[in-house]
Amino acid sequence: MITGSARLDAIPRYEPGLTSAEVAERYGLERVVKLASNESPHGPLAAVAGAIAAAATGLNRYPDGSARALRAVLADLHGVDASQVIVGNGSGELILMAGQALLDPGTTVVYAAPSFALYAPLASASGAEGIAVPLDDSGLHDLDAMAADVDERTRLVIVCNPNNPTGAYIGADRLTSFLDGLPDDLPVLIDEAYNDFVTAPDRGRMMSLARQRPNLLVTRTFSKAHGLPGLRVGYGVGGAGWIDALNRVRPPFNSSSLAQVAALEALRHLTDLETRVRQTISERERVANVLATMKLAFTPSHGNFILMRTSRDGADVPSLHERLLRRGIIVRNGASLGVPGRMRVSIGTPEENDAFLAALAAEIA
Ligand code: PMP
Repeated sequence: MITGSARLDAIPRYEPGLTSAEVAERYGLERVVKLASNESPHGPLAAVAGAIAAAATGLNRYPDGSARALRAVLADLHGVDASQVIVGNGSGELILMAGQALLDPGTTVVYAAPSFALYAPLASASGAEGIAVPLDDSGLHDLDAMAADVDERTRLVIVCNPNNPTGAYIGADRLTSFLDGLPDDLPVLIDEAYNDFVTAPDRGRMMSLARQRPNLLVTRTFSKAHGLPGLRVGYGVGGAGWIDALNRVRPPFNSSSLAQVAALEALRHLTDLETRVRQTISERERVANVLATMKLAFTPSHGNFILMRTSRDGADVPSLHERLLRRGIIVRNGASLGVPGRMRVSIGTPEENDAFLAALAAEIA
């Protein structure tokens, strides 16, 4: 029997959504539409799948532990030196590494809530204090309140933009003035997992800022728009101090050779990616319009998902999620994300979205 330390007991468990197989088995369904984990509805591009298959024959060798080739291409893409890029086993690993590298007991990390579920465990895993600052009414980070919570104990600030689960996006001007108000040497991590789905013209400005401000680390992932969450590959771009800190705690060979090869190939097909992203954005607008017609309130989203109310009058209807499950539609129950009374639906193919909207209409009627 393993007994946890008080610190271990304090680490919240990460609860992934149900798999399609679990739902199919539980309700005896043949077809299940999974719109619960903000995944791409598309498998990897054929060229990417081909590159993965071809690289399989080399799996008797360890990967390049520092992902040199991938870092070089990412550096080119973002106009930085390769020494400013780090590759992770998903961007989630980089976020956890930031906690490991920077936090100690007695220090604090400031982030928004509700936001991505990895930030709270990051604090407790290091015995640090997580300061979760409530979002404002429009689902945006309350940057003034976050700045007010920064003190001499603070070692890390995390901003999730667009925010998961609300999809709200903080404009670059607003975010820059927030950064201006923080100490120059306070590490700030901007989690841009959903950046590809942002339509605002200032999208990507934080990445440019990461070239100039050594206290910034911007993380991105191949798990969302690129459709490769099964491979686990993400990256961070930041100042030399950031990259050095993360490299000290980075496990050797943290990114697999297949992940590196796939990410490199994916970056050779950015036009195909753009086409897929455009479809997701247009489907996001279509789903939003139907929700508006159904008089179900939602937060305007810059991600590949929408956070919506579970009833027209705003009352919490937790059973809606369960009833959709019985119809073979998996969405994320808001209560599990810290937003009771709401549910988060990922944007799928047009057919999947139609199936969701039809099931929703039947349940709401
Ligand atoms: N950041 C945010 C905001 C996310 O929603 C996710 C995944 N759901 C991640 C980071 C981590 O993604 P990955 O580790 O697959 O790159």
